[in-house]
Amino acid sequence: MDDSIEITGARVNNLKNVSLRIPKNHLVVFTGVSGSGKSSIVFDTIAAEAQRQLNETYTAFIRNRLPSYDKPDVETIDHLSATIVVDQKPVGGNARSTVGTMTDIMPILRILFSRYGTPSAGYSFAYSFNDPAGMCPGCDGLGRAVRLDIDALIDDERSLDDGAIRFPLFGVGTWQWQIYARSGTFDPAKPVRDYTPAERDLLLHGSGFTVDVHGKNGTLNKVDYEGVADRFTRLYLRRDTSTLSERTRRAVADLITEGVCPQCHGARLNQAALATRIGPHTIADHAAMEITDLITVLDGLHNPVADAAARALRRLDDIGLGYLTLDRETSTVSGGEAQRLKTVRHLGSALTGMTYVFDEPSAGLHPSDVGRLNTLLRALRDKGNTVLVVEHDPDVIAIADHVIDLGPGAGTHGGQVVFQGDVAALTRADTPTGRALRHRVPLKTSPRRPTGRLTLSPATLHNLHQVALDLPTGVLTCITGVAGSGKSTLATRILPAQHPSVTVVDQSAPGTSARSSPASYLGILDPIRRLFARATGTPPALFSHNSDGACPRCEGRGLIHTDLAFMDPITTVCEMCAGTRYRPEALTHRLRGHSIADVLALTAEQAAAFFTEPAVTARVHALLDVGLGYLTLGQPTSTLSGGELQRMKLAAELHRTGAIHVLDEPTTGLHLSDVQTLIALLDRLVDGGNTVIVIEHHLDVVKRADWVIDLGPGGGKHGGRVLFQGPPQDLVSAPGSITGAHLKAALG
Ligand code: ADP
Ligand code: ADP
Ligand code: ZN
Ligand code: ZN
Repeated sequence: MDDSIEITGARVNNLKNVSLRIPKNHLVVFTGVSGSGKSSIVFDTIAAEAQRQLNETYTAFIRNRLPSYDKPDVETIDHLSATIVVDQKPVGGNARSTVGTMTDIMPILRILFSRYGTPSAGYSFAYSFNDPAGMCPGCDGLGRAVRLDIDALIDDERSLDDGAIRFPLFGVGTWQWQIYARSGTFDPAKPVRDYTPAERDLLLHGSGFTVDVHGKNGTLNKVDYEGVADRFTRLYLRRDTSTLSERTRRAVADLITEGVCPQCHGARLNQAALATRIGPHTIADHAAMEITDLITVLDGLHNPVADAAARALRRLDDIGLGYLTLDRETSTVSGGEAQRLKTVRHLGSALTGMTYVFDEPSAGLHPSDVGRLNTLLRALRDKGNTVLVVEHDPDVIAIADHVIDLGPGAGTHGGQVVFQGDVAALTRADTPTGRALRHRVPLKTSPRRPTGRLTLSPATLHNLHQVALDLPTGVLTCITGVAGSGKSTLATRILPAQHPSVTVVDQSAPGTSARSSPASYLGILDPIRRLFARATGTPPALFSHNSDGACPRCEGRGLIHTDLAFMDPITTVCEMCAGTRYRPEALTHRLRGHSIADVLALTAEQAAAFFTEPAVTARVHALLDVGLGYLTLGQPTSTLSGGELQRMKLAAELHRTGAIHVLDEPTTGLHLSDVQTLIALLDRLVDGGNTVIVIEHHLDVVKRADWVIDLGPGGGKHGGRVLFQGPPQDLVSAPGSITGAHLKAALG
């Protein structure tokens, strides 16, 4: 039976010994409430095993240089084909990656300009900003020039021993610091302001001699001296920063200032490349046009190379990305846009017999664009591939050849296959998904009355021009519109800039360290530590893995992180504390039979039953209220999805009153039944005296809003206008609003 992927005995995360047969060459949708185990089966079992099997095929030499994948906890997986994960992870912070480079459309335009442009600068590499032949010499093709800010790097008031060098990787005691402070080159106790000009120059830019520096094991090494400014520039500014750790990148960012390159004015190319034109346009002009406009220009050239480029661009337009420009850096596109870009790239490839895995591809898509997404998913299948999709959107579920429904609940209440079959049977099934698909949410007919209004004065940013409007306060407002119409620009950029009291609850990771967890983020840890201290007669700090309780080996990280100078860091679980982060002594003290590590391993739901103390239970209940009862208190926030992070941040806001909250697509990752819970929560926030503004496509949320602002009509420069403002009841009949038309259809 090699026409299906066969899994037996999967026990990854919450999976309860799942055995499953997945038909190949079909479009298979995985459904179930958040935390039911969809990702555990699709990503952590199937995709992880496929990747591991692929790695096994490499020679030991290459294998040792790849990240190692543990075998997932599953008895057998048979008939697995090569698997490609198309997820919503950002496509990378690399400044050399643009929409044009990642979709392989820039190479076609380069051929076009090298063959048909006048005067030609040479072959096609002469038009590549990633090739020395084409890049602007002023910025190495980045379009921006960065400069080290010496005043930020060096604290003149301090000596080397006091930390005059403010870059942590060159901090006091580091090996790099020794080059300056322990080589006899400078007086390490003298404040830098007292250096002679020559000494200062030596510190910053000196070179041409060697110094002795002690290695870790006491050996004496000869090192070529290099001034601290030059060393910093070479190690951190002249290289691709995407390979640096997040922490290092942030530290580097603190020391540099950045602006548009004065030589190419951001066009990234050298003079010769920018002198070449086809008609009135340079290649940089093409890259700066919206894709829909570029298609028109290329069609007008009646040239085979231009036609090839236009064909590739149409695939982007077809998936609703026609408002992007090819020069847009991929680091600035949203998760949903990133996933659609990756999809287009795979559609263009000739591979068949693959397994493609998608994580909620409808995220960020207006109902009117979901149809186009469906066309793409079907096209992938029809090329002879197996397409596995984790999805909540009924319109995507509707096109499945086969549905696998996980549940029934989240965490320990889930982890089982509760339904498997076709869509018609699913809509009759007695599972949370089946029931939710049958349930119709009614349109709100008596909206709340606003308590006041927030006035936005005329503002211009991205595609919004002089947009001015009033937002009602004390109600639930929903901002709708197709992707790229300007919703985020309005609600997360312009509004907070004019009204600083606005809090944007988005899906980004909170700016905290790897040590943070739901418990620390919500401030539950402190009261728990005090409870342990009171019960055991020991100081609270003993129960902190950031303080006295820290495992001495890993310093409370639970992981050992080895930073290798020029390679990716290696991370392993700490052997001394087995990843618990605590020193052995801290774990001997117990509260009602539980050690502090046991408590952090409780899910929020279990913690709600374990604790009776109000200081803890109020905040634990906030996690249950936002539908995160299945998370453990100590789960590192780095393992949470964007939607989960957003709901965790929301949990921290629940106690406020008089606040103005902006939420960007809070239904991401939510099952239809969880959407009802979310709406109830938003209602509670509003009834508690807050103003809630959501950017949302989910029609159930639109139906339950008090006020709707619809932007559009299209994306990019075809959008940015306010098409409708009013209660949802009136949106249904609003002329020219696609959202209104879809809402009407959903009521049908
Ligand atoms: P879904 O994709 O259906 O939302 P998941 O497969 O992500 O659900 O999660 C299923 C369960 O496994 C949840 O209880 C979740 O908290 C848990 N889980 C997921 N990833 C991890 C992890 N890396 N470590 C520990 N538990 C995890
Ligand atoms: P929505 O939230 O409705 O999807 P956005 O507000 O994200 O729309 O985008 C509106 C327009 O602004 C689009 O043309 C988009 O490409 C552009 N845009 C958004 N963010 C940026 C950015 N960081 N840099 C340049 N253009 C941007
Ligand atoms: Zn330049
Ligand atoms: Zn440890």
